Amino acid sequence: MDKQQAQEKIQALREVLNQYSYEYHVLDKPTVPDAEYDEKLQELRQLEEAFPELITADSPTQRVGDKPLEGFTKVEHSIPMLSLGNAFNEQDLHDFARRASQGTDTPPTYVCELKIDGLAVSLRYENGQFVQGSTRGDGTVGEDITSNLRTINSIPLSIKDKHTIEVRGEAYMPHQSFLKLNKAREENGEELFANPRNAAAGSLRQLDPKIAASRSLDVFLYGVGEWEGKQLASHSERLTYFKELGFKTNPEWKKCSTIEEVIDYINYWTEARPNLNYEIDGIVVKVDNIAQQEELGYTAKSPRWAIAYKFPAEEVMTTLRDIELSVGRTGVITPTAILDPVKVAGTTVQRASLHNEDLIREKDIRIGDPVVVKKAGDIIPEVVRVITEKRTGNEQPFSMPTECPACDSELVRLDGEVALRCMNPNCPAQLQEGLIHFVSRNAMNIDGLGEKVISQLFREKLIQTIADVYRLEREALLSLERMGEKSVDNLLRAIEASKENSLEKLLFGLGIRFIGAKAAKTLAMEFETMDQLANATYDALIAVDEIGEKMADAVVQYFAEEEVVTLLSELRELGVNMTYKGPKKAAIAEDAVFSGKTIVLTGKLEQFTRQEAKERIEALGGKVTGSVSKSTDIVVAGEAAGSKYEKAQQLNIPIWDEAQLKNILEAEEEKQ
Ligand code: NAD
Repeated sequence: MDKQQAQEKIQALREVLNQYSYEYHVLDKPTVPDAEYDEKLQELRQLEEAFPELITADSPTQRVGDKPLEGFTKVEHSIPMLSLGNAFNEQDLHDFARRASQGTDTPPTYVCELKIDGLAVSLRYENGQFVQGSTRGDGTVGEDITSNLRTINSIPLSIKDKHTIEVRGEAYMPHQSFLKLNKAREENGEELFANPRNAAAGSLRQLDPKIAASRSLDVFLYGVGEWEGKQLASHSERLTYFKELGFKTNPEWKKCSTIEEVIDYINYWTEARPNLNYEIDGIVVKVDNIAQQEELGYTAKSPRWAIAYKFPAEEVMTTLRDIELSVGRTGVITPTAILDPVKVAGTTVQRASLHNEDLIREKDIRIGDPVVVKKAGDIIPEVVRVITEKRTGNEQPFSMPTECPACDSELVRLDGEVALRCMNPNCPAQLQEGLIHFVSRNAMNIDGLGEKVISQLFREKLIQTIADVYRLEREALLSLERMGEKSVDNLLRAIEASKENSLEKLLFGLGIRFIGAKAAKTLAMEFETMDQLANATYDALIAVDEIGEKMADAVVQYFAEEEVVTLLSELRELGVNMTYKGPKKAAIAEDAVFSGKTIVLTGKLEQFTRQEAKERIEALGGKVTGSVSKSTDIVVAGEAAGSKYEKAQQLNIPIWDEAQLKNILEAEEEKQ
């Protein structure tokens, strides 16, 4: 290839890579698998190595991440958040070890860590307080996502080391939460997240923290930025110290004395990764000794003392035999690919969701097509692409029906949705799915009503609505296939017992759009009875922590439906409990220091944000309100406190300064 040709190829590669990178990093919506991006990047890197004069500073090979999203406050990282060099095979690892040994006096030892496929974040602590959390962004400038990160329970809001420190790590979404989130999105006709990494990034890069709060995110910390804290000699000591400070570290890390041991660790995890409940896409190998790390230094993009080994993407070929349609609980029609069985990443795959019509069209999927299949995030089978070169010409294009496969009602596509929906509230397929949800473990937990029994009950017309579950009679149940006396008695007992469930189980079971098990619990705890929730206004709902706009809207709409009113009154008559029985909202020790006290914050607080002070006071039983009155117990006055301060003086209410509040909070939190 001459220079002119190389230049053209390089240009073309940069253009597609920049586009992919924008979709991945800024939009959190990749359009190609990571392996494809990595391959093209590798190709570009090789061309640039052959023609170094063609390297430019803005080439994707020279960059970390992408620009921060508009709408967030930007955070300049005092120490850049870098990327990592990649290794794809043993040879790359040996090369890394050789370079590391050549760059240091004594051969280094290593720490191996799982490479968590999430979003790199940096947490800054000043004076022992969590003051700022940010994304990596382009490595130099990231986004301020403090309020979203504060919703992650494992991030300590205060720590005992009072120096300025920044800890860095990966925010991620566990598999279970990812599957649940996508299932809910599918049922709500929303676009799905491609993998847990995009779901985590998409959740943390939301302007409304309630969204992040509802998404069960977690974090593993593995590195430092600015660090005035305790000086430690090795990375492994740092990881141990992190734990001591209360930071969550990944427990699987291991010290390795040689690169052979590193390779053993990699081989082990290549096999064992499906057992983890979160996604990893490789292994990170770091030189353990920090003095040696410093000796080795950095390139513009990554440290020379670490490397990321990437697992090969497992993609296999098979044939798509058919496309099946199913009707979900909310009427969404989902097409599923029926495949010739193949083994992918350890299990046999024969079905893969095709999600919606757009996807089928975009990928031009036809019945009979030769296709490439992989497991997205190693868990969900996915049709990656059609191998068009291998088509025989007999493949049949597929189009979605215009009528519901279960009830023949006309299907509609709601504004802004990708899914087709059946809008018939009495569609038997929807009712059946709704009932499967209603009896499921996190909902009413009725053992013995499996999918098969439910579909029999529908077929025999013994059940038509949820309320009919509570009208089932012994004789009728005995007439069903494979239902003996004993199972019928057990089932009836389970149905009876479910009547006593606390409100949140019923709420979740009803299948209100956007209301998952966690939101149901929050609502039940807040409103305590079905009636109070049914009468709650949009404003009252949105005021509840963790309840966002969509949820509030969905609840209001739900209770306004006539069918819902009828259903609830039937359930009530049939003896189903409609009150909350769990611990009360403020189930905080009665002797907590602020228990029963109303506190007003005024003036400018220097050491915490208002929100933080509020949360910490509430955790100790107090209530924080906005205005001073006779019922106020304490006023905490920061700098430049104005009229509230005066009013407190007039009313003789004790006035604290910020230091007093801080001392009490710390002393009490210590006791807990
Ligand atoms: P990287 O994934 O190669 O590795 C570096 C990152 O690993 C670090 O920044 C950190 O966030 C993470 N990490 C996880 N565990 C770690 C640990 N224990 N120690 C240190 N770091 C750890 O590089 P990158 O710069 O984050 O991003 C590139 C990735 O994005 C590649 O996987 C690439 O395939 C993907 N990408 C995909 C597309 C697409 O269109 N599909 C586009 C752009 C980028």
